[in-house]
Amino acid sequence: MDGKVVESSIKSEARRAFLALCMHKTRLLQEPVVDPYMACGHPNPSGLGEAARFSQTGSWGQSSVLFPNLETYRLADKCGRAPYGGAEYGVPQTPEADVVCRKIAALHKGHSAVICPSGLSAIATTLDAFSPKAVLIPDNVYGPMIRFLNRRRITQIRYPSGASTDEFSSALLKARIEYPQREDLIVYIEAPGSGTFEIPDIDGIIAASQNAKLRTVMDNTWASHVRFIPLEHGIDVVVQATTKYEGGYGDTPSGIVIAKHPQDMQIIADELRATGNGAVAPTTCSRLYHRIDSTEERLNQHADTAQRLIDWFLKQPFVTAVLSPTLETSPYHERFKRYFGKGNGLFSVVFHPEISAKHIEDFVDALHLFWVAESWGGHLSLVLPVHAKREVTPLPDGYVLRFHAGLEEYQDLLRDLNQATGCLS
Ligand SMILES: *Cc1c(COP(=O)(O)O)cnc(C)c1O
Repeated sequence: MDGKVVESSIKSEARRAFLALCMHKTRLLQEPVVDPYMACGHPNPSGLGEAARFSQTGSWGQSSVLFPNLETYRLADKCGRAPYGGAEYGVPQTPEADVVCRKIAALHKGHSAVICPSGLSAIATTLDAFSPKAVLIPDNVYGPMIRFLNRRRITQIRYPSGASTDEFSSALLKARIEYPQREDLIVYIEAPGSGTFEIPDIDGIIAASQNAKLRTVMDNTWASHVRFIPLEHGIDVVVQATTKYEGGYGDTPSGIVIAKHPQDMQIIADELRATGNGAVAPTTCSRLYHRIDSTEERLNQHADTAQRLIDWFLKQPFVTAVLSPTLETSPYHERFKRYFGKGNGLFSVVFHPEISAKHIEDFVDALHLFWVAESWGGHLSLVLPVHAKREVTPLPDGYVLRFHAGLEEYQDLLRDLNQATGCLS
């Protein structure tokens, strides 16, 4: 056995002892998680609870969609839709995808939606569909989006994280000099932004963009339909990683796109048909379809637990700040109340600059319930360093950790944080 595996099983033993003292709900959520070395880090290798059953049944997912005669086939081939729902070719938009899209579109007050295999692919599909030369993006935009823009050689014009209307307008003015054509420039909003959760003046940005007759796209992943409906604020196209809170258990990799105008929706649907990038597993769609019904309850639970953890961190001598717009002391709290009202499971902790990175990383590694992992919005609590590259809005001084509060009992999470603080002194 190599050193890492031995180390992992030692941690498993300490973790098992810790779990034995946890409350029923925490154990229910955390006990099925097997040693990451055995399951390639996947927490639910055989499905979780009800999802395990849905994964085995009801899956259409056939590439050949059958037609009773040539005429119905020709009609479907022309418009890309079968008369009984779904596509004429069974790879993009299966019947399961269709019902999820209808459900989500209604929640977002849109006419229709498309589903993509990930949140990032929803973003990529949208930008490829409109193929702008440049995009105005917030400085705290979701990191992989930058990688995508670089690959497509789309120019990035950044406006400050948490921009006021004036700050956004001056970036817009500069962008318009170089890109005066409507189709060449897209205004992109993500709020609260990734990792540091600043909130820009969303309504002001939309008004300024509408004045300039520019298309607006908003990444609404943080909020989901529960906390914010972008179309009602005048956004043209919403993208959302349903991988996160809608699915809620980390087993629904998917993203949706909803446009306000039917013409825009058609451009996006045509893009999916042309690229085949709308192939989402029917099991994913089935899970999503049911989980959407409990998104709000879960989100409230994540938010309540996050608040308990934030309160604990604020009392610790090694913490200089907690980044969360839910805090009254946050400069974005007014906007937070106006737009979102309630939080989710996410917040970031800024450690005292005098504490060494080694101590902070030992603290992370000593945690039993918080897993080191990307993505968020699931049942398990997570932690990850924030190492975003910012160009116009600097990160705070000191090591920054992003936490996601899962659905475990908060008392167990606090006990876990407490037992790991020994590493910090
Ligand atoms: C996670 C995330 C995405 C991408 O979702 P994936 O399904 O992981 O590709 C997009 N935007 C934001 C803000 C995210 O947090």
